[in-house]
Amino acid sequence: MRRFLKRLFVLKLYYSGFNWLCGRLMTRRIYLVGYHNIDTDMSKYAKVTISPDVFEQHLEYLKYNGHTFVSLERLLSDDLGAIRKPTVIYFDDGFKSVLTNALSILKKFGAAPTVFVTTDYIGRESYLSWDDVHTLAAQGATIGAHGETHTHMTQCTPEQLQTELVEPRARIKSECGIDARALAYPNGRVNDTVEGVAQKAGYVLGISSVEGTNSISDLKNRGLRLKKIAPKPYDDLMMFKVKVYSWNLALSLTRLWS
Ligand SMILES: [Zn+2]
Repeated sequence: MRRFLKRLFVLKLYYSGFNWLCGRLMTRRIYLVGYHNIDTDMSKYAKVTISPDVFEQHLEYLKYNGHTFVSLERLLSDDLGAIRKPTVIYFDDGFKSVLTNALSILKKFGAAPTVFVTTDYIGRESYLSWDDVHTLAAQGATIGAHGETHTHMTQCTPEQLQTELVEPRARIKSECGIDARALAYPNGRVNDTVEGVAQKAGYVLGISSVEGTNSISDLKNRGLRLKKIAPKPYDDLMMFKVKVYSWNLALSLTRLWS
């Protein structure tokens, strides 16, 4: 029943034109669209794998709707000026498929990815090696951190939190010479304590579990609690479109009414 109602809601948002209208109005929002594994083999990491074809359809939709793909580095360093719908495509965990499958698709759209690596995973089967991370960085990817061991940071002791936040920056620096200033919290888990330690560790941008888009002032004022758009393997293209513009807005509106 819940699934049926959700579907009905998605259809309503789409066919009423509400999603389209939101898309027309939300030209100054910042969109962080997050993926994990891009692969035709869905058997191994089923919950986080999206096929290259679907991934390309997502990028096509964004391009068609006037999004400007920007690197995360640009969000960090630049005044975004008049850029229309600045959009970052990012990948959590550090799957090798970012290099082998996603990069060539991203290039077609002139998009530079951001890769949040879990430093303990590097070199494991299905994951990037440090050489791969180098290659990605050399091709314009922004490298960020995603914890040392992928432990949920809200459950960490103060010592563990140091390890999960400070160590990855140090390792990325020593292995690649990159100053990683952005992180995606594993499973998006963040609270005030985690945010405080992250800030002290030198991070200026963090992606939380909250879904939605960000304003330009959020970058400065809530930089360590940014919202994301998170396509799921079971979402169809219509769900993706609705997630980009109207799903979260509509959910908050229904909460206001109830
Ligand atoms: Zn993760």
